[in-house]
Amino acid sequence: MTVTIDQVDVIVIGSGFAGLSAAIEAAERGCSVIVLEKMMAFGGNSAISDGGIAAPGIDYQTAAGVKDSPELMYEDLLKAGEGLNYPELARIVAENAEDAFLWARDKLGVKYFKRVDIFGGHSVPRCYTPETISGLSLIKAQVDLLRKLEVPLFQGAYLKTLLQNEDKRVSAVRIIDDYRFNKHGIGTEKIIHARRAVVVASGGFGSDIAFRQAQDPRLDSSVQSTNKLFATAEVIKECMRIGANPVQLSRIQLGPWASPDEKGYGTGPLFADYVVYPYGIMIDPATGSRFVNELCDRRKLAEAVLVRKHPVIGIADSIAVDMAGWDLSRSLKKGVVKTFQNFKELAEGYGIDMKALNQAICKYNDDVREGFDREYQKQIMPEAGPILKAPFYAMRMWPKVHYTMGGLQIDKQARVINRDMHPIEGLYAAGEVTGGIHGASRLGSCAITECLVFGRIAGRSAATNQSI
Ligand SMILES: Cc1cc2nc3c(=O)[nH]c(=O)nc-3n(C[C@H](O)[C@H](O)[C@H](O)COP(=O)(O)OP(=O)(O)OC[C@H]3O[C@@H](n4cnc5c(N)ncnc54)[C@H](O)[C@@H]3O)c2cc1C
Repeated sequence: MTVTIDQVDVIVIGSGFAGLSAAIEAAERGCSVIVLEKMMAFGGNSAISDGGIAAPGIDYQTAAGVKDSPELMYEDLLKAGEGLNYPELARIVAENAEDAFLWARDKLGVKYFKRVDIFGGHSVPRCYTPETISGLSLIKAQVDLLRKLEVPLFQGAYLKTLLQNEDKRVSAVRIIDDYRFNKHGIGTEKIIHARRAVVVASGGFGSDIAFRQAQDPRLDSSVQSTNKLFATAEVIKECMRIGANPVQLSRIQLGPWASPDEKGYGTGPLFADYVVYPYGIMIDPATGSRFVNELCDRRKLAEAVLVRKHPVIGIADSIAVDMAGWDLSRSLKKGVVKTFQNFKELAEGYGIDMKALNQAICKYNDDVREGFDREYQKQIMPEAGPILKAPFYAMRMWPKVHYTMGGLQIDKQARVINRDMHPIEGLYAAGEVTGGIHGASRLGSCAITECLVFGRIAGRSAATNQSI
């Protein structure tokens, strides 16, 4: 759809969770709003995510007897972030997480499984998964609400330049309309004026190989990513051109649960995250031994795998698979997850020394029975049991670039901060394009929480921006 509007109150760049949340809040406050999305589909990486969201204090936790609080979630965020998190921003995420989840479930109507899961680095189960196991259900609900609010959403509309007025307030954008990704020279330049503000919610840069490699030289084109190809850094660079301060750009998260036997995010993470980490073990095929606490945060897990210089094997038994209750048929069909009738078959399948594997499993099983992991101090879940019952399930695991913790510096009102530590008038940001909230490592399911919390804050701030 060609962009026919040349002036609104609030312009939102990007149609993922953060951008759509901002647009809803601004529109509900009576502003005229448009959303500009460069691709020919809405939803960004949000749409291909699992949609998992973390929050303390939800009724599913109460039903499962889990005690949690915003303070505990905040402490977990800081622990995984190794204290590099901007504490005031991390606190806002933890304190508004419950409200964000209830907004998605009760106001927008997304259906979640009535269960609560734990991912590495969370000290208690606090993660909820939509029944579709996809972020698309929330994207669809947000788009539906925006249509009801009569907010125009444009596809093929690429933000090229942020324009400032004589007071240095961001007051307009130059876009390429009818843009087509990776096709040069197509589209028409247009200028759209923002009476109140521009919100950038353009996501992370996991697929921008040159930019990510400049931050972390190890992440060249040989390292796969779970992100879609459009996850690039042009909006961060444009904000930097007008003085925005980028923070912690080299903090790039690798997803340790990925499989080298399929492209992109794939199907394997469901098995790894929900079954292997809480109820199974990871084995280095070169030694036949465990090598890490499988429930530690993603950064530690990915580093522990990378130093081995070859994929590792995640293993769980059929009791764990049945108890976790996820449908693994897609992984099994693709051959990403394989089944074995006994440990000998499994050891042969991955070239593992049988004696060493047997020893590792027996030791782990003893520890599970005792309720304490002597080797790596993994939290033994109350429902976890020893690895005993065939068929045994296993998967090769090798990290892929997944999430960029660094990005634009923002303050508590989601204002973009410049290199002199002052807000850039008229410019707000939310979601993965921002940096500093998660510090060294983002906990699973906390990106979506953060997108909703800060997307909504950005929308409210933009709507009430008194600069006009
Ligand atoms: C496969 C996968 C699974 C995940 N699962 C989870 C999960 O279960 N739980 C969780 O918490 N996190 C998960 N994450 C992370 C999380 O989904 C993302 O961090 C989050 O969705 C990012 O949302 P966003 O709104 O910031 O950006 P996005 O959803 O990526 O949206 C940004 C949008 O901006 C557009 N854009 C970019 N540049 C421009 C431009 N120049 N002009 C116009 N538009 C532009 C992009 O095309 C894109 O549509 C997952 C990530 C991936 C890749």
